[in-house]
Amino acid sequence: MAVQVYLDGKYVDKDEAKISVWDHGLLYGDGVFEGIRAYNGRVFRLDEHLRRLYDSLKSVHIKIPLSRAEMKKAVLQTLRLNAIRDGYVRLIITRGKGDLGIDPRKCSKATIIIMADKIQLYPQEYYEKGLKLTFASTRRNISEALNPRIKSLNYLNNIMAKIEAIEAGYQEAIMLNAQGFVCECTTENIFLIRDGILTTPPVWAGALEGVTRNTVIELARKEGIPIREELFTGHDIYIADECFITGTGAEILPVIEVCGRTIGEGVPGPSTRRLLAAYRDITTREGTPIHEKESLTV
Ligand code: PMP
Repeated sequence: MAVQVYLDGKYVDKDEAKISVWDHGLLYGDGVFEGIRAYNGRVFRLDEHLRRLYDSLKSVHIKIPLSRAEMKKAVLQTLRLNAIRDGYVRLIITRGKGDLGIDPRKCSKATIIIMADKIQLYPQEYYEKGLKLTFASTRRNISEALNPRIKSLNYLNNIMAKIEAIEAGYQEAIMLNAQGFVCECTTENIFLIRDGILTTPPVWAGALEGVTRNTVIELARKEGIPIREELFTGHDIYIADECFITGTGAEILPVIEVCGRTIGEGVPGPSTRRLLAAYRDITTREGTPIHEKESLTV
């Protein structure tokens, strides 16, 4: 059976899942999204992702007829229909069909899409050897313009930063905020470790409040690693003992070099490896069961 996509309350074959060219998600990036992961028959941190999605919707003033509980059911049903135990879920909500102007009042019904598929994993080598990063000249959105805590369909400045990384021969780029403090990477949050203390920029500095970021903070507390949410600069990364980036798809990716400066020993550091092991462990054990019977096997 073809991949089934949830589209406005119905399930349709992948190739039939089409939206109008009048949709403001396409015309103006007027919408929000979420990326969620399923491991071992469970959806990891589903409630946290849905909370962020509904927060984003609230902020951009898009109303949908589905409650959070109904959305949760629809996500699980999409995974079940596609027989996915390990995979990725993409939720997209746009303001819907309107006319060619931006007037949101012309969009009478939001478009709701849920896609579930196998996940494209990062190469194992990235986890074993670590990544080399650069800085992008493109800054993260300022909160006063488009708050980066909204996971909106406007990713163009992140894409511009990604282009800079690729053009410079790197896999990823670090983005700064308008004041020059480190925010995050193009689709991952960033952490550094120095003298045993884990530091990540506060979300108000201009980062998305990553679900993985929050999980890592929680795991660090459990592991007894002191954690701070503080502003830092590129210099702090150069002199860090360890650095890593986090995201739903990436999980925890070690960083071994930034702009030619070797980070620590130039290999994934011990705390990074410890947190990755703890993360892999929690993702296979915790989560919302896709099938009812899974809940009995914990
Ligand atoms: N920052 C940005 C800009 C993102 O798009 C994402 C999501 N890929 C993240 C950070 C990481 O968030 P999460 O851990 O919730 O996937």
